[in-house]
Amino acid sequence: MIAGASSLGAPRIAMLGGTFDPVHLGHLRSAVELYEQLTLDRLHMIPAPQPPLRGRPQVAGAERLGLLKLGIGDTPGLYADGRELNRAGPSYSADTLAELRAEYGAEARLIMALGQDAFSRLADWHAPERLFALAHIVVIARPGYSAVRSPRLGELIGQREVADASTLMQSPHGGLLHLTLASSMAISATGIRRRLQQGDSVRYLLPEAVEASAVARRLYQPGAYEADE
Ligand code: ATP
Repeated sequence: MIAGASSLGAPRIAMLGGTFDPVHLGHLRSAVELYEQLTLDRLHMIPAPQPPLRGRPQVAGAERLGLLKLGIGDTPGLYADGRELNRAGPSYSADTLAELRAEYGAEARLIMALGQDAFSRLADWHAPERLFALAHIVVIARPGYSAVRSPRLGELIGQREVADASTLMQSPHGGLLHLTLASSMAISATGIRRRLQQGDSVRYLLPEAVEASAVARRLYQPGAYEADE
């Protein structure tokens, strides 16, 4: 078991999974604000090889992980975690949470963070009820996405929703919290890929080091690269 770096009690650990194709400031600023607001010990940012519910990433996993490392740089508490890229077969968040739970122990406050757009589709995920058996879910408000709740999602959520972080942190898993972070940003990877393909500026949408690397390696230009996963 890995002990929490700063908390006196049980470690507070979050994962933010995604395609990160490429990582942008919407991801990174959300991660920093989540880390502070929930007083986390560590936030694992975990690129998926091929998310089950969406199209192929444009760039291979190893490249996306490299950009994520560049984007995080020396940001305290954030960790670029490539564990899903080494997994054979489909990569499910429940399996990743099970690994984190085994690493941090039964008392750890384990959180799966995701944006409102991803949360709206949670009922379609693989074994969604297992997610709550392993972790809390924290939903980050995202400009342009409203909190629509299908009947199946409502059923999955049941009475799990809590009003604040301190209530959430009273137990190791099983709760749901909606958060509006201070710096909500209407930035998407889709918009960034489109801009790069069109030769438009992406300055201030993603870290300069990520922009420089993506441009130098022609990662998002037409025909320049195809993910081989
Ligand atoms: P794409 O446009 O390719 O779908 P994306 O910008 O949504 O990509 P993902 O890698 O799919 O990025 O997102 C990973 C996680 O981060 C998801 O839970 C998503 O909801 C969340 N997220 C992405 N962008 C933002 C943002 N601007 N603000 C808050 N959360 C975000």
